[in-house]
Amino acid sequence: MLTFPSAQRFADMYNNIFDTHSHYDDEQFNNDRNALLSSLQDRGVTNIVSCGCDIETSKANAELSKQYNYIYFAAGFHPENLEGFELSDLKTIKALAGDKKCAAIGEIGLDYHWMSSTKEKQKEFFTAQIELAKELGLPVIVHDREAHGDTLEIIKATKPQGVLHCFSGSREMAKEVIKLGMYIGMNGVVTFKNARKSLEVVKEIPLERLVLETDCPYLCPVPHRGKRNDSSYIPFIAERIGELLGKSAQEILDITNENAKRLYKIKD
Ligand SMILES: [Zn+2]
Repeated sequence: MLTFPSAQRFADMYNNIFDTHSHYDDEQFNNDRNALLSSLQDRGVTNIVSCGCDIETSKANAELSKQYNYIYFAAGFHPENLEGFELSDLKTIKALAGDKKCAAIGEIGLDYHWMSSTKEKQKEFFTAQIELAKELGLPVIVHDREAHGDTLEIIKATKPQGVLHCFSGSREMAKEVIKLGMYIGMNGVVTFKNARKSLEVVKEIPLERLVLETDCPYLCPVPHRGKRNDSSYIPFIAERIGELLGKSAQEILDITNENAKRLYKIKD
């Protein structure tokens, strides 16, 4: 008998859950990964995209996508994981991205909070991976932490398709991103006490450009904040957004599911 907390809270309540951003290769899933991933479809999850952060994790997520029909993966270098890699290593990402279960190049972007590599190296990898995605006809999954100005400048210059995941920018930035044809990813942060800025963005953007994500195992929504997150917690996010927009959580799940399939070009 599985005893995941969200299973008790939402038993058979919701369907059409699409988790557009997760990290199921993470070691926090090592003890029960297969039990969990075998149970999620029964709890309303239709699809998951599990993101790589370097070569090893991109490969691990590609492997998971082979084991589970409903799981797709993204391959790429996260800005915190660039140490020891050169642009020539992108050929391995390119080879992985040739897999039909590869839904995107990601996660890629800029992280000026941790600054594990220089801004120059981060920008170089970000831009090169956008060009790779365009060459392959894939969307990108963008990580932007405390780097809004440079992120916007690069996506304006390169015009990729894709999503700004865990969006933390302003309403004005969100509008620019939408104008470029991209999507905005929201997660458990919208349930946190300090969510005002994210909720303003949600109110401002067209609903057909919003997608939901966990970023699991991190960012578990309230009332489970701090615990290990997984895709079955997404209804907490949909309930909060539904409340804000005067729609049911299921309507939010239905619309964002369609959006995610359009974003990642996934057909039923
Ligand atoms: Zn992530």
